[in-house]
Amino acid sequence: DAKANGRNCHRFFSEGMNQIAQADAALENELRDALSQEQFALEYQPIVDAKTLEYVGLEALIRWDHPSRGRLLPVQFIRVADDTGLMDHMGKWVIAEVCRQIRTSADEGVDLPRVAINISPRQFQNQNVCDEILKNIKLHNIEPSKIVVEITEELLLDNNEHVSNSLNRLRRHGVGISIDDFGTGYSSLQYLRDLPANCLKIDRTFVSRIEHSAADRAIIGTISHLAHALDMRVIAEGVENDAQLELLQVSGVDEIQGFKIARPQRAENLKKLFDQQRYTNRSAEG
Ligand code: C2E
Ligand code: MG
Ligand code: MG
Ligand code: MG
Repeated sequence: DAKANGRNCHRFFSEGMNQIAQADAALENELRDALSQEQFALEYQPIVDAKTLEYVGLEALIRWDHPSRGRLLPVQFIRVADDTGLMDHMGKWVIAEVCRQIRTSADEGVDLPRVAINISPRQFQNQNVCDEILKNIKLHNIEPSKIVVEITEELLLDNNEHVSNSLNRLRRHGVGISIDDFGTGYSSLQYLRDLPANCLKIDRTFVSRIEHSAADRAIIGTISHLAHALDMRVIAEGVENDAQLELLQVSGVDEIQGFKIARPQRAENLKKLFDQQRYTNRSAEG
């Protein structure tokens, strides 16, 4: 009967919850080991100028070389890292690693363009991301303008003084501030006026429908106008094919990032990549 069913349902549900909690706990322990055993790696995805297709930036994306499961993507571990506070430690590693890579590349004669670092809202609220970044910039003797901080609208939901002070301080030092996944975060536009962001990244969900949806084309065009009026650059993320690239080139976005241009690359490939100055669209030529 319904009552018994309900009870079963409840038990099933809590067992499911329990399994998730156990899996999370196991992952948490593995993550602790990963941090001490340096199992993390960064991949770098190129960003190009929309018109010239010259490489103008990179985004650093974390990977976990898990001892038995192979190379894992952030979706498989970021949430647990965030929930357990391990993100702070991981985030510090990312900041240091990016600055170290820019220095190493420069020493090898490769002048990397600016590199964007993702900072989760929790990490930004918990730790002094600003000090951490400025410290590493100094330590590795790199230009502050080589670093861009990618934050999401979620971080800006409540008007947090620590957040706005940190962002202003970073900007004053010449570090770039990007709003990632722009247009998906339910936040007000007030922060665009009040915060020192200098770049908007249009979320992939808008880009993926650009060929088929006049509404998405209108949204992308309007975001570009807004950004330019506020003296900000616009990056379209998740560009996967020629049709999307061509539509974006006439829509006013400044820069392009996506599998169409390049997948995230291992650090070892950066030198080869930057021996060429720009992306050449082989499928369009051939
Ligand atoms: P994000 O910052 O929006 O990064 C872009 C994501 O889209 C990356 O996934 C990238 O590989 C993927 N992508 C790029 N171009 C395309 C495309 O053309 N098509 C498709 N389908 N996907 C594309 P990834 O590397 O799996 O990262 C996912 C998210 O994990 C990132 O989204 C970011 O929010 C987070 N993340 C990555 N690295 C870090 C990190 O070091 N720290 C923190 N806090 N978060 C990170
Ligand atoms: Mg990002
Ligand atoms: Mg993004
Ligand atoms: Mg995204």
